[in-house]
Amino acid sequence: MDKRAKIYIAGHAGMAGSALLRRLTAAGYDNVVTRTHAELDLTQQAAVDAFFASAQPEIVFLAAGKVGGIKANNNFRADFIYQNLMIEANVIHSAWKHGVQRLLFLGSSCIYPRDCPQPIHEDYLLTGPLEQTNEPYALAKIMGVKLCENYYRQYGARFISVMPSNLYGPNDNYDLENCHVLPALICKAHEAKAKGASELIVWGSGKPRREFLFVEDMADACLHLMNSDVSSGLYNVGMGDDLPISELTELVMEVVGYDGKIVYDRNQPDGTPRKLLNIERLKSLGWSAKTQLREGIALTYKDFLSRRNHR
Ligand code: GDP
Repeated sequence: MDKRAKIYIAGHAGMAGSALLRRLTAAGYDNVVTRTHAELDLTQQAAVDAFFASAQPEIVFLAAGKVGGIKANNNFRADFIYQNLMIEANVIHSAWKHGVQRLLFLGSSCIYPRDCPQPIHEDYLLTGPLEQTNEPYALAKIMGVKLCENYYRQYGARFISVMPSNLYGPNDNYDLENCHVLPALICKAHEAKAKGASELIVWGSGKPRREFLFVEDMADACLHLMNSDVSSGLYNVGMGDDLPISELTELVMEVVGYDGKIVYDRNQPDGTPRKLLNIERLKSLGWSAKTQLREGIALTYKDFLSRRNHR
C-alpha cells in the first residue's frame, strides 16, 4: 500500500477498527478517512454509495458490524443477520463500483462448522452445520467472505477476507449482558475485588476452549496482508493456541488480583466446544502473533482501568 493512498476504515470507533486506525497511523499512513455512525449509516445503500462517490477511497478496511458475545448473538438474532448483511453488501458493492483497489473484510472464526476438525483450516468453510447460538452472525459473515470471493472471480476486484479468533484488547465493550467472555471476566473480577465478593460467576461449564487474539496483533496481520501480493482468499488469524474458559478465568483473576471462588452457572450456554484456527496460511506469508495472552490481558486491564478512571 502506498503511504499516500486514501484509506477508508469502516467501523473505526469499534475495538477492531480503532486498532486498525492506530496501526495504520503508526506506520505512517496519514490519508485515512473515517465516518461516525451518526455521519454515515452503513445499512443504507444510497448513503454508502454517495459516500464512496464523493470520498473516492482507494483502499478499504471493512471492520464495521454488529458484534457481541454469546448471549447478544442469541438474543438479537434478527439484528445480527440483517445489520451485518446490509453493511457488507453495501460497502463491498460500492467499493467495487467506485474502483477501490484493495479491500479487507473482517470476519470471525465462528463462520466455520461447529464440529469441524481442529485446528480449523480455511477450506473447512461450508462443510457442515453451524453453532446455533451465533448462526445468524456466522451466516452474515459467510456472505461477506463470499461477496469478496465472487467480486474477485467475476470482476478481478482484489478483495480479501480475514477471520480472527476471539479478539480482545483496548476499547472493548464491558456491558456484561452483551459482551464477550474476556472483557466480561475482567469486569467481573475487578468488581468482585472492589466489593470484596467471595465468588465470581462464570457462564456455562468452563469447559469450552477458545483461542484469543490481541486486537493490536490482528491489526498488524491485516496491514501485513494488505502489503503482501495476495489478491483474494480467506486468511485465518490467531495465536495457534487455545485454553478452556476455566483456565482463562484463573488467568484473568491473577492479572486483576482477585482470588475468590469460581462458580459455574450451567444455566447459561456453552456455545461451540472449540474453535482453534489453523494459521499456517498466514504464517507462510511471514506473519505470526507477538502478544502472549497474559501480557495482552494485563494491557487490556490497564485500558479498562483508565477508561473507568479507577487509577
Ligand atoms: P463465543 O466465543 O461466540 O461463544 O462468545 P463469548 O466470548 O461470549 O463466550 C465464550 C465462552 O465463554 C462461552 O462458552 C461462554 O458461555 C463462556 N463465558 C463464561 N462466562 C462468560 C461471561 O461472563 N460472558 C460471556 N460472554 N461468556 C462467558
